[in-house]
Amino acid sequence: MNEQHVNECDEIDRIVDQALFSGTPFPIVCPCCGSTSCHVYMHKHKEYHGGIWAWCSECKSSAHMSAWIPIWWKNAPFIDEKRLCGSTDYLDSKSGEIDEWVNKLLKSEEAILMRKRLEEDKENVICVICGTEMIPLEKSSWGMICPNCNWGWVTTRFDPIDTDMTDYRIILQPGNAARIESIRIVSHLANVNYIQAKKLIEAAPVKLFEGKARDIVIAAAEMKAQNINHMIQPDFPYDID
Ligand SMILES: [Zn+2]
Ligand SMILES: [Zn+2]
Repeated sequence: MNEQHVNECDEIDRIVDQALFSGTPFPIVCPCCGSTSCHVYMHKHKEYHGGIWAWCSECKSSAHMSAWIPIWWKNAPFIDEKRLCGSTDYLDSKSGEIDEWVNKLLKSEEAILMRKRLEEDKENVICVICGTEMIPLEKSSWGMICPNCNWGWVTTRFDPIDTDMTDYRIILQPGNAARIESIRIVSHLANVNYIQAKKLIEAAPVKLFEGKARDIVIAAAEMKAQNINHMIQPDFPYDID
């Protein structure tokens, strides 16, 4: 019996892209141990969805994920769907047949055409799963979605406020009326009950809240909406809507 220790290696995920984007025949080089013993198998459960398994016969690194499956993929007839699970032992016992199957699919006209289109697609508008031209997502982010299979990608727009590691403080200023709305907000921000919140309003100036820039914007916007006098320390370089 072989030792069945499972090697935890995140790099194994990368070989899935090789199966999708390059025509390199399997088995391919293992990113974890370097031996040419890596395999990929996909299984469609629905038209564009299913499971993907990637594993190395040598070092036993493996990954399993549910994912979009490219249009050119066909389930292997010799794979028993009921035996597919998180473990890759069953698949590894059929790795030779699986490699042959995958290599045949990679050489299919459909797969070759897809690779050619993706290579020429400098703008990343072609869906890697089904080849349909994708459409832009909403304005707040850079992203595209496929109107056919719903595969897509999103990159959050870089916003300096989210990388600012300064701890800012909101200081409640004197002169605020202890109205119920002010009490509610102060109680929420300072994490105290209404009676303590009322005392804080009377004792101002007091520090109410400390946090990173994004939290400060949200908190200060609430205070501004209720005309609660406050200041932010140190100097706050962002707009409060
Ligand atoms: Zn390996
Ligand atoms: Zn698509």
